[in-house]
Amino acid sequence: MRTASNPQLVPSSNYNTSSDTAPMTQKKILWFRRDLRIEDNPLLSIGGEVMPIFIFDTEILKTLHPQDRRVSFIYARVLWLKDALRQKGLDLKLYLGNPIEIAALLEQEGFDDVYASGDYDAYAKERDIKVSHSLDFHALHDTYIFKPEEVRKDDGSPYLVFTPFYNKAKTLFTPKHLQAYPFAQQSLYETSYEGITHIAAGQKTVLPLDISSIGFEPNFIVTIAPERKLEHFETAITDYAKARDYLGTDATSHLSLDLRFGTISVRAILRFLVEQKKKGVETEPFFRQLVFRDFYASLLFSYPDLATHNHKYRFNGIEDVSKFKAFCEAKAGVPVVDAGITELINTGNMHNRVRMICASFFTKDLLLPWQWGERFFAQHLLDYDAASNILSWQWSAGTGIDPQPYFRIFNPYLQSKKFDKEAQYIKKWIPQLQAIEAKHIHDETYLLSHTIEGYPKPIVNHKEASNYALAYYKKQL
Ligand SMILES: Cc1cc2nc3c(=O)[nH]c(=O)nc-3n(C[C@H](O)[C@H](O)[C@H](O)COP(=O)(O)OP(=O)(O)OC[C@H]3O[C@@H](n4cnc5c(N)ncnc54)[C@H](O)[C@@H]3O)c2cc1C
Repeated sequence: MRTASNPQLVPSSNYNTSSDTAPMTQKKILWFRRDLRIEDNPLLSIGGEVMPIFIFDTEILKTLHPQDRRVSFIYARVLWLKDALRQKGLDLKLYLGNPIEIAALLEQEGFDDVYASGDYDAYAKERDIKVSHSLDFHALHDTYIFKPEEVRKDDGSPYLVFTPFYNKAKTLFTPKHLQAYPFAQQSLYETSYEGITHIAAGQKTVLPLDISSIGFEPNFIVTIAPERKLEHFETAITDYAKARDYLGTDATSHLSLDLRFGTISVRAILRFLVEQKKKGVETEPFFRQLVFRDFYASLLFSYPDLATHNHKYRFNGIEDVSKFKAFCEAKAGVPVVDAGITELINTGNMHNRVRMICASFFTKDLLLPWQWGERFFAQHLLDYDAASNILSWQWSAGTGIDPQPYFRIFNPYLQSKKFDKEAQYIKKWIPQLQAIEAKHIHDETYLLSHTIEGYPKPIVNHKEASNYALAYYKKQL
């Protein structure tokens, strides 16, 4: 062991953020995590004798439903990666277990170094630091445009508000942020790459290469192959600035899943934007959203407590299980909210505008704790990303570092009237409303006073609920 047997949660001297510290002669573990691709992958730019691995992390898997779609997505992609690495003369060794135990075992097997892309949420940071007590841990810059502490105020402190962060980011952005990692000369460390190596309580068994070996049932999602996503987005990006908020259109990129699992590198997306800009396409609105993702990641990196605690204001919502249940079962009686939740449960996806409407309704109209909503989204979103989800919920609740003012409350009926005028999106997900005219679907008075077969009346009156929330918030300030 490199340090005391009870690892502390501080980086050991073996936790490095540079890739250049290991001599070429050492055999290196390349740990694939949020970078499930071949092209432009920093792991494949580390030369020498390597053993690429992927760990099905039991600490994460034990919290998920056996039919979780993300596990099926990852499982399929990991098999793809194994095959793609084989075509390059490499392979991918699959493990099932706790990464800390696996790292200790790999140390006993004579490995010294592990390379992985930096992962900055609280669980990942803690895990990687513990791993660094067994193996020299080299965190590579990959997942975001900027390194977590790259965009700072002149005095070195983190930005708390997005616009100044964005303005600084633009001044720091250089061609090096676009550069693809080149492939290095790598040879495979000889070992067995068959099946899934299960490590538990010091015992090693090899399980068949099947999703059931990791305790899950197949629940595959149909999605455009990552390699074709940018081609697909090329037809939509011209409309992005004006149409991205409209629910009937398909003007967004659907890249969040790829950014989450690194099936496309963020630099490849930036290079695509440069090409589009050369063709005269207005790319800044999309670039801004990508930087938003960096902003949220850097905030959670700098303030890990945000994962569970408010930054501003003490208000915490009121726990009400029956309101929470109605929301989660798409029975709130507010069409755009119920449509969003139905889409989420059935597909694992939800349009950004609807996420905002749902989160506002949840934290303001229903006055529920944002942490409950955050966990509910985390269970269902395919693109679940701790930083983006947590910070967006805090933004909606008005409790975060860069919050929407607490007194700004979305009116879900005005929102749906503006962004889903003909109620096409709503009717797609709530067939019971098929025969109802769009103007009634956006009209709370109509919905409160009419009975619609198979569809509930609104569980709250928006005006009353938002007045109550405002009074409640004011009292707590
Ligand atoms: C309550 C709530 C929860 C959210 N939870 C998540 C989450 O768990 N994971 C996640 O990736 N996004 C989350 N978002 C942000 C946003 O809704 C999604 O990134 C977006 O809907 C994904 O669709 P897209 O790739 O087509 O987006 P596009 O509009 O094409 O945007 C391109 C990329 O920019 C980034 N981006 C866009 N909008 C935002 C934003 N508001 N905040 C941060 N990054 C953004 C994403 O990486 C996205 O893929 C959340 C937003 C809200 C309001």
